[in-house]
Amino acid sequence: MKASRIVVAGSLNADLTIYTERLPSPGETLHGHGFAINPGGKSANQAVSAARLGGNVTLLGAVGSDSNGEMLLASTAGAGVDVSHVRRVSEPTGVAIISVDARGENSIIISAGANGTLSPADMNPELFNGAGVVCLCLEVPLETVQAAAQAGHDAGASVLLNLSPYAAITTELAQLSDVLLVNSHEASQFLDGFIMPAPDAPVAAWLGAVEKFAGRGLHQVLVTLGAAGSMVLDAHNIDNPVVRIAPTAVDAVDTTGAGDAFTGAVAARLAAGSTLVEAARYASVAAALAATKKGTQTAYPSGTEVDAILQ
Ligand code: AMP
Repeated sequence: MKASRIVVAGSLNADLTIYTERLPSPGETLHGHGFAINPGGKSANQAVSAARLGGNVTLLGAVGSDSNGEMLLASTAGAGVDVSHVRRVSEPTGVAIISVDARGENSIIISAGANGTLSPADMNPELFNGAGVVCLCLEVPLETVQAAAQAGHDAGASVLLNLSPYAAITTELAQLSDVLLVNSHEASQFLDGFIMPAPDAPVAAWLGAVEKFAGRGLHQVLVTLGAAGSMVLDAHNIDNPVVRIAPTAVDAVDTTGAGDAFTGAVAARLAAGSTLVEAARYASVAAALAATKKGTQTAYPSGTEVDAILQ
């Protein structure tokens, strides 16, 4: 079966990363060791992850007319992503200031820059013709995300919404989303403080989360749990509404962008016709491999590397 096209609409950022023993407390200054500027931004990362895993990906976004913009266009195009609809604008390219500690944990501040100029008018329905999957996150204006979700829905695509960085979304956007992808913090925020069960909690505990999400119009949800793996919550799957995806054991060096690697891999596998559980299993390996190297896009595996572990 020929894989369908993937449209990723959203952000591109230059990642300015400092490596440090531990993350600073408020008011504290620490010495770091090592600094790098790498291509990032959730949507660019997700597009690169999907393309490296064999997806046919078009990226809709905006970068500045600056060197960071050049770097991002080169890295996404270099991974095989169609960037002909990434606009160059007068605002500076978006930036993320990232600290990574010795355990590979991170903290991040982003400045939207050019990403803030991406508008509903950029989500031309023609660009979504023939798309099988539309992949969205919340690093661009919410009305733009909603316009992209509507265009994807109208084109008959499966809309995959990564609710990150967390923001409250409209009921319409929730209902336009076929698959929601969240970490446990974002899941709790979305469900008004409902605490996600522990990763090893019985299925019955997770059924509560399935019901809560379904009550908000979301029937298929992937909850990522960092080193503890992920959960597939699928209210449509009567026999198996809760499936735990075990983590792939790796020595994590930098988990920045592991969630984006996961999201892009899910998009690639859904576009290729996999079920949600199959896609999550594959994505779990791709994301774990991404955590074994520094950086985000530069750390993403190829399909051959993922297949070698899955066999
Ligand atoms: P997160 O966004 O931190 O929840 O991570 C997304 C996905 O990346 C998780 O669901 C795991 O599949 C994978 N992952 C993240 N950190 C690790 C780790 N330390 N070891 C193995 N897999 C990881």
